[in-house]
Amino acid sequence: MIKKSRKVRDYKELTRALPTQTYLDPETVYIHLQNGRCKTYDLYVDEGDHVDFGEVIGVRHGGFFEQPIHATISGTIGKIGKKLHRTGRKVDCIEIKNDFKNTYHKTITDRPDHVIDKLDQDDMVEILKQKALVGLGGSGFPSYIKLATKETINHVVVNAVECEPYLSSDYRLILDRPEEVIMGLKYVMQALNCEHGMIAIKADKNPLYEVLTQVIERRYSDLNIEVVRLGNYYPQGWEIEVFKNALGIEVPHGELPMSYGVLGFNVSTTAGIYNAVKHNLPVVERYFTLTGDAINYPQNYRVRVGTSIQDLIRQSDGYKEDFDEVLVVMGGPMMGVSTVSDDVIVSKTTTSVIVLKNTEYKEEPCVRCGSCVYSCPAHLEPVQIMNAVKRNDKDQMKSLHADRCIECGLCAYVCTSKIHVTDYVRKAKRLIR
Ligand code: SF4
Ligand code: SF4
Repeated sequence: MIKKSRKVRDYKELTRALPTQTYLDPETVYIHLQNGRCKTYDLYVDEGDHVDFGEVIGVRHGGFFEQPIHATISGTIGKIGKKLHRTGRKVDCIEIKNDFKNTYHKTITDRPDHVIDKLDQDDMVEILKQKALVGLGGSGFPSYIKLATKETINHVVVNAVECEPYLSSDYRLILDRPEEVIMGLKYVMQALNCEHGMIAIKADKNPLYEVLTQVIERRYSDLNIEVVRLGNYYPQGWEIEVFKNALGIEVPHGELPMSYGVLGFNVSTTAGIYNAVKHNLPVVERYFTLTGDAINYPQNYRVRVGTSIQDLIRQSDGYKEDFDEVLVVMGGPMMGVSTVSDDVIVSKTTTSVIVLKNTEYKEEPCVRCGSCVYSCPAHLEPVQIMNAVKRNDKDQMKSLHADRCIECGLCAYVCTSKIHVTDYVRKAKRLIR
């Protein structure tokens, strides 16, 4: 039975229509000192030190860049411990205990519009570097490196497709703060001297279309920014798919979109760029979805980076019943990482946490139905890659181009036999790296 599918049930109705809950005053935040891209760090503070909101407390070291670490509340530095990161690994985290005074660091000052109007690419790159802007849709890639491109950019695209099931935080961010997204796009266009901006949404998201087009028409009609509606399938939010369908630009595997004159930014990143340029704010907060069938009141939150998920589960009236075990998915259910612990925090790149009843799925043997092959957006043969992993045949994994997998999760989703095919392909990528 071939079950080709690029439609996944989205479950967004759990949270999409609800107003965003603001939760900006947690007792404690926990700031990851390491992440998927930065293995080492230096700290500039000691236990007991006082820090202000937005103050630099250390620096993370990545392979080819450094990233300041900022305090996301004002208060007192506590201990360093370990917390799970979105990468699935436990990493060092430092506590900051809130003094509830919300004292801003002296660097957090508004930049007047007449000053912003004169900023060029180098100025904006420096601002994003100092404010540690990264891809907040989950990539974590430093935004200043993207913005520093020397290629001619003809189109800047804000990716607001949000195709992962359950997630609606980008949706709420646009409804609540459309101007931040539009202004962030304007600043990127200014930095790159780019004439054309685009905000890509899913075709069925009429409220987004309404709000964005109205704000653009009434307040920003001088900017060449259009809103495009793309198909309702998964993974339409994959950047390469967005560029192809919104602009007709096909970026071959292994090449960079900027070589084709196009650059994309996630919605939260674009709003973050606005806040960095206009208010000199680092990424101290984010929109975030807490949802799933195991909690009483799924909803979107506006939270400080470093907020404990256990705090937010309490804010959401706790678990529905006393489950023996819940499954906690950090990120979307298709591409995220699952754990059974809710002792996790909202990092810059955590778009969502989904808490589900932990149902065990029994894998059946592969029936060679081909569903995973027909559904793969990267045109791979996931079942063959899985077989190569079982044989530890790295040559075969390479010749099947396992490295081109975008880890969208579709092969596991459609699998007739409930096999975690994506996990095998991920493993193949690691083995041949
Ligand atoms: S092989 Fe990779 S890209 Fe293809 S469906 Fe599976 S996870 Fe997606
Ligand atoms: S791995 Fe699953 S989807 Fe792929 S061929 Fe086998 S049974 Fe079908």
